[in-house]
Amino acid sequence: LIADRARALAEAAGGSASPQIRHVATIGGNLLQRPRCWYFRSIAHRCLRKGGGKCFAVHGENQYHAIFANEVCAVVHPSTAATALVALGARIEIVNAGGDVRRPLLDEFFVAPETDVQRENDLKEGEVVTAVLLPAPAAATTSAHMRQSDKQAFDWPIADVAVVLERDADGRCSKASVVLGAAAPVPRRARATEEMLVGEMIDEKLAREAGHAALEASTPLARNHYKQPIFAALVARVLLRAAGQG
Ligand code: SF4
Repeated sequence: LIADRARALAEAAGGSASPQIRHVATIGGNLLQRPRCWYFRSIAHRCLRKGGGKCFAVHGENQYHAIFANEVCAVVHPSTAATALVALGARIEIVNAGGDVRRPLLDEFFVAPETDVQRENDLKEGEVVTAVLLPAPAAATTSAHMRQSDKQAFDWPIADVAVVLERDADGRCSKASVVLGAAAPVPRRARATEEMLVGEMIDEKLAREAGHAALEASTPLARNHYKQPIFAALVARVLLRAAGQG
């Protein structure tokens, strides 16, 4: 059912971690995992996210860090499934100890460093994630997800992209959702790309332009400029794949 109606999620989740990890892991754990920044994980570095006074990555080893929204803390969001789920408009269901249920959009559940540098999400004390909800896709909705990693074996992506397209009867795009993963502290919606696709037929030329538009507002750090052409190419490829041309 998921492969049929939400291919982007099937492709993102199917390539995450190793089969052994996937067998015992949960989607909730995947979405709530803490960042993988090596300074954050190191006991020798008390960075901003751990209550310290500075971000060591901004002027340090930042080759795997964010190329967008990296002024305060340059982590990239660690969940690949989140890239696809945000693009698909998913909600996360949360229950507190008193049994109250809330279902915020996943997009709004994640917390950017500018809001609170010590939190990655809005899960409150006493709450637990009980479900992830996908809206029923509109007719003629297609989606795709692709990643680029350093190596083909189990590895975290250095860039990943999810695209969800709705198209009219004549094949023109009526709505587009384009989300970049491993790009920013939270899944990054490529608004300029989404807007330029509406009303258009998807072809290779438009896909290339859309890839470049996705880099709008990118602010790469000293060691991660290499991610820019990867994202441009990946957006173009995933867009064509979602449109049935790749
Ligand atoms: S990127 Fe964020 S987690 Fe990493 S060192 Fe900087 S403040 Fe800490």
